Amino acid sequence: MTARILVVDDIPANVKLLEARLVAEYFDVLTAADGYEALAICEKQSVDLILLDIMMPGIDGFEVCERLKSNPRTAHIPVVMVTALDQPSDRVRGLKAGADDFLTKPVNDLQLMSRVKSLVRLKNVSDELRLRAETAHSFGLPVTDRPDEFGNVLLVDGRGSSQERMTRALKPVAEVTAMSDPQAALFEAAENSFDLVIVNSNFDDYDPLRLCSQLRSLERTRYIPILLVAEQGHEELVVRALDLGVTDYLMRPVDPNELVARSLTQIRRKHCNDQLRASVKQTIELAVTDGLTGLHNRRYLDNHLKLLIDRALARGRTLSICITDIDRFKTVNDTHGHDAGDEVLREFAHRVRATVRGADLACRFGGEEFVVVMPDTPADAAAAIAERLRTIVEGRPFPLPNSDMLLSITASLGIATLNPAGDTPEALLKRADMALYQAKNNGRNQVVAAAA
Ligand code: GH3
Ligand code: MG
Ligand code: MG
Repeated sequence: MTARILVVDDIPANVKLLEARLVAEYFDVLTAADGYEALAICEKQSVDLILLDIMMPGIDGFEVCERLKSNPRTAHIPVVMVTALDQPSDRVRGLKAGADDFLTKPVNDLQLMSRVKSLVRLKNVSDELRLRAETAHSFGLPVTDRPDEFGNVLLVDGRGSSQERMTRALKPVAEVTAMSDPQAALFEAAENSFDLVIVNSNFDDYDPLRLCSQLRSLERTRYIPILLVAEQGHEELVVRALDLGVTDYLMRPVDPNELVARSLTQIRRKHCNDQLRASVKQTIELAVTDGLTGLHNRRYLDNHLKLLIDRALARGRTLSICITDIDRFKTVNDTHGHDAGDEVLREFAHRVRATVRGADLACRFGGEEFVVVMPDTPADAAAAIAERLRTIVEGRPFPLPNSDMLLSITASLGIATLNPAGDTPEALLKRADMALYQAKNNGRNQVVAAAA
């Protein structure tokens, strides 16, 4: 993991210390000695994370944070406030100013690296999401909303009293399911989709790391963020937990502000990831879908027909295809306009989809031509389906947009069936197209089957 981190502190020794530790982990480090310098750097350069001291001459850390968070160009940069241990009220003020998390002075390595890594991971996914949103926007595609700031949390905790306290603290940011039996919790995590699992290491005779490692090895829970709550001074447990893949940790006694900040980071990251996955799916769908009719497009057919043919041949099954072309469609456009033509195409596609089986693949092949691929369908059954489609088109006139007029439409259809001795998509489509040509020549509004 690499990232550019800005360290802001007015005491040069503090800056040097943090800088040395971060550089040792191969982070790229920038430094600033006061708030103004920090703001100037963030305006000019891309920064992935800011470690921000509070007490500084000029403007203090709270104000720097507020200014960063209210500027759209810098609002997405995570800010970690470096607070003094004896000033817990600073954390509340920090959160109000928009800080994402805290580090307590003196900063130990474990804390520093956990905070930095956890927030840099979040920044990476949220940057990618912002980029996709920009691209989607520039292509006129729908832009997804900002990820939800409220999540589902599974809390595994051996004590009722601390379950209650943590559930209450998390109320503004999460719906909490609290459980005290780790084995039951593992099932619960696998069965439901939680955004975060919090494991409190306060069981009388159960090793909390066992649950963490089980969560990491189950397929269904492998990527769920895990937040470990450890006893003060049990750094060794924390180190082993982080090695096992635990995402972040908190020390007892649990500071409610820390709990909320750290949980929110994981909830945000999970939601960004979910949205990224959904956007990939959506992009793929857009690429293979015809915008006017919602059917698959020709690109999809070209890819998928070969798979369907190969599978049918390998299993000794049959397969038929039907090409249909609307008769004299050009006159629809010429007489009633292009919009009316589009409406007829939409309704036609709808009737095709409603007539064939769910397992059949209906595509817009181009213009007013459609192709239906029918797996496991012999020639006579394909002819019957094509005839049914022909009747459904002819039998019910098509409504025109913004008018009460109905339009009589017919279509011609050509069908062809897989040659069990071997076939290709091109050859099969070609035979169906020849049959369609025959149907047009014979006077339209009819079905012709290609000779076997
Ligand atoms: P035939 O019975 O021989 O098939 O005659 P036809 O008029 O249907 O065939 P032709 O291929 O001459 O014309 C097809 C027309 O379909 C021409 C084209 O403008 C129109 N068309 C193709 N795509 C679209 C579309 O997306 N929307 C609309 N409104 N018209 C389209
Ligand atoms: Mg036509
Ligand atoms: Mg045509």
